[in-house]
Amino acid sequence: MLGFFAPWLLVLVITGLHLTLPGRWITGYVPHERTGEPLRYRLNGLRVNATLVAAWALAGWLDWVPWSWLFVHRVEGLVGACVLGLLYTAAMVLPARATGRGLAIDLFLGRRINPQLLGGRLDHKMWLYLVGAVILQLNVLSFAAHHALTHSSDPSPGIVLCAGLLTYFVNDYLVFERVHLYTYDLFAERVGFKLGWGCLVFYPYFYTIALWFTADLPNPHTPLPVLVGIGVLFLAGWSMARGANMQKFRFKTRPSEPFLGIAPQVVTDGDRSLLVNGFWGVSRHVNYLGEITMGLAIAASAGWWALPWPWLYPLYYVLLLVPRQRDDDARCAEKYGPLWEEYVRKVPSRIVPGIY
Ligand code: NDP
Repeated sequence: MLGFFAPWLLVLVITGLHLTLPGRWITGYVPHERTGEPLRYRLNGLRVNATLVAAWALAGWLDWVPWSWLFVHRVEGLVGACVLGLLYTAAMVLPARATGRGLAIDLFLGRRINPQLLGGRLDHKMWLYLVGAVILQLNVLSFAAHHALTHSSDPSPGIVLCAGLLTYFVNDYLVFERVHLYTYDLFAERVGFKLGWGCLVFYPYFYTIALWFTADLPNPHTPLPVLVGIGVLFLAGWSMARGANMQKFRFKTRPSEPFLGIAPQVVTDGDRSLLVNGFWGVSRHVNYLGEITMGLAIAASAGWWALPWPWLYPLYYVLLLVPRQRDDDARCAEKYGPLWEEYVRKVPSRIVPGIY
C-alpha cells in the first residue's frame, strides 16, 4: 500500500515545496485566453528538485528509508501513479466546458488550455512537468542505488553513466524551465490524459526504462572508450536540442541579438519573422534529432544492447516527435502562410538534415 501511495505522497510534497520555496515570477509567451496578456508563472523547479534529492540522500543515510526503496516498490508505485493520473485527468476534463470534439477526444487531449491557480502561483502544465521531473529524478537515483547496493563488489559504470545522463536530462530541463514556456506543449496543447497522465505516470516511470530492466543485472563490462563515446553522443544530441531551443528563445525575447556568435538571419513579411540560420537553418526541427540522439545514448549506456527494453526509449521519441513535427509544420503553415512556404524552400529538411 505504501508503494502504491508513494507517488501520491511525492506529488503532495512536491506541490507543497513548489508553493512555499522561493521562486522567480516570469512573464511567459502564451497569452491569457480572455485578456490576451502573456501569462505569468512562478518557477522554482531546481530548488524543489535539490530539496527532495537532499531529503532522499539524508533519509537513506539515517536508515529511515533505504535509498533503493523506490526501486523495490517500483511496480506498486507505477500502479499508484496510474490511478492518480486517471483521477487527475477526470478532475481536469470533466468539469470543464466541452470543446465539441467528443468526450473521448476531450478526455485524451483535454479541454482547458492553460489552467492556473492562485493567480499563476501554480500553473497546471508547469506543475505537471515539475512533478514528473522530480519523481523521475528520485526513481533514477533509487534504481542506481539498488544496483550499487546489490552489486557492490563489481558495480557497472554503465549504470552510473545511465543514471548520470538521466539526471543531467532532468536538471537541464529545470535549469532552463523558463525556456519551456516557449514550447509546443505550452501554446498548442490542452490539459487532459496526454499531458496529465503523461507527466504523472509516463514521464517519471517510462523514462527510467533503461534502468528499470538493467539495475538488477551484473556489470556487462562495457569497455571504457565505448562508454566515453556514448557520453559524447549524448552531448552531441543535447547540443542540438538545447542549442535550437536557446537560439529560438533568444530570437523571441531579443530578436536582433546574436546567439553563440550567430547573428540571426530571417525570412520576414515585415510583421513576423522566422529564423533561417544556425540550428534553424540545418533542419526545421533539429532539436527533435537531438532528443532522439540523447535517447539512443541513454538506452546504450546501460550496456545490455541485446535486451529490447532500453531501446523502447529512443523508439518512443521517434514515435512522438515525427508526428509532432508534422503537426507543428501544419500549425506553422496556417499561422505564417507564404512566410512558412519560403522557410520550407530555404530549409527543406524536416528533422534529419539532407535525409528527412
Ligand atoms: P519547438 O521548440 O521546435 O517549437 C516549434 C515552434 O517554434 C513553432 O510552432 C513556431 O512557434 C516556432 N518556430 C518554428 N520554426 C521557427 C523558426 N524558423 N524561427 C522561429 N520560430 C520558429 O518544438 P517543441 O515545442 O515541440 O519542443 C520544445 C523542446 O522540447 C524541443 O527541444 C523538443 O525536442 C523538446 N521535447 C522534449 C520532449 C521530452 O520528452 N524530452 C518531448 C517533446 C519535446 P511560433 O508560432 O511561436 O513561432
